[in-house]
Amino acid sequence: MQTHAFAAFEARARALDAADPLAWSKAEFHHPEGLIYLDGNSLGLLPKAAVARMVDVMQREWGEGLIASWNTAGWFTRSLALGDRLGKLIGAAPGQVAVGDSTSLNVFKAICAALGLRPGRRKIVSEASNFPTDIYMMDGAAQLYPGHEVKLAGRDGSLEDLIDEDTALVALTQVDFRSGRIHDMAALTKRAHEAGALVMWDLAHSAGAIEVDLDGCEADFAVGCTYKYLNAGPGGPAFIYCARRHLKEARHPLIGWIGHADPFAFSVGFEPAHDMRRFLSGTPVVLSFAPLEASLDIWEKVDMAELRRKSLSLTGLFIDMVDQFASRHGLALATPREERLRGSQVSWSHPEGFAIMKALIADKVVGDFRAPDILRFGFTPLTLSHADVVEAVRRFERILESGAWRAYGAGREGGALVT
Ligand SMILES: *Cc1c(COP(=O)(O)O)cnc(C)c1O
Repeated sequence: MQTHAFAAFEARARALDAADPLAWSKAEFHHPEGLIYLDGNSLGLLPKAAVARMVDVMQREWGEGLIASWNTAGWFTRSLALGDRLGKLIGAAPGQVAVGDSTSLNVFKAICAALGLRPGRRKIVSEASNFPTDIYMMDGAAQLYPGHEVKLAGRDGSLEDLIDEDTALVALTQVDFRSGRIHDMAALTKRAHEAGALVMWDLAHSAGAIEVDLDGCEADFAVGCTYKYLNAGPGGPAFIYCARRHLKEARHPLIGWIGHADPFAFSVGFEPAHDMRRFLSGTPVVLSFAPLEASLDIWEKVDMAELRRKSLSLTGLFIDMVDQFASRHGLALATPREERLRGSQVSWSHPEGFAIMKALIADKVVGDFRAPDILRFGFTPLTLSHADVVEAVRRFERILESGAWRAYGAGREGGALVT
């Protein structure tokens, strides 16, 4: 990139950082020395306060309180308390979100609950580009419900054509994990409802990344992760949303004692809890809640409209800068240029993407690679400045100009890119 062009981008970054209302949040997280971390969409940074919170849960709540902490420390109700706090970030009024289990399991529970609410309809509609675990869980559910089948846009027809009067559920991931393309939640939910179907939104790459209004869109079900943009750490529990209007009727087959109306009655027959606890199966993962609590303390201070503005200015700066040399080096933008359609990540395709990403990681710019040819960069507005974007691009260009990536070989060498 020409020196004067680079200087202009540096000036733009300085101005944006100086006016950034979210600049305070970067210091709330631990940043490994010298690293520019553009993978917070896969595993978010550690909130500094999470360490003390974890120690407190271990020493005070567990060490001292022992079993009494189920009541005195609120362990038993923590899943729903955290659900209400998290709900504020995704447009869910209290009483509709539970935190627990994994996203995969919650996908399954939400699918089954939806199928139960639409008896006689046989189709689950999704997309071939959806995250594999979502599709596998749909296949698994379809096998258990006789006559049901999964129809995938991109394989079996278009989304528009597949949604019809035989559709029980439209199950989509709002932000595509490869390209970062955003689905119009309001429009697609409306389209599904017009056909008499229900919707389930996977918010894995939405929660903490973009503004989400589940209640406003009249979504039926939603699920998502906390270890990505929400910084709850590896093993961070997932969440599940069920619209209040469905709560009384919604059932799923993974009924465990924690979802019972009165778990400590230890009764033979199952009666679902009257609140979101009915979506939980087993004992809450209390230790894994600790980092999420610390993270939500930070998120509570974040205005989601400001978050979205910063996300777009980070990704916009990155795209504009890489555009300067992309075509010369065979990089093609795989993320929508249109802001309305762009999540909080930027993906470039390149046939040697795996080797380039390895070289970038060696140069302490951590993004990731998604087969077959996607270099993926996540931009987490709470943990990044525009100056970080400039420095990341400087190293990116240097690697391409020098051809340093060629030393990292071609092909994926049979494994995932572990950083
Ligand atoms: C990351 C991700 C998941 C992960 O599911 P786990 O059960 O946490 O492994 C599920 N769905 C989507 C769309 C994802 O991006």
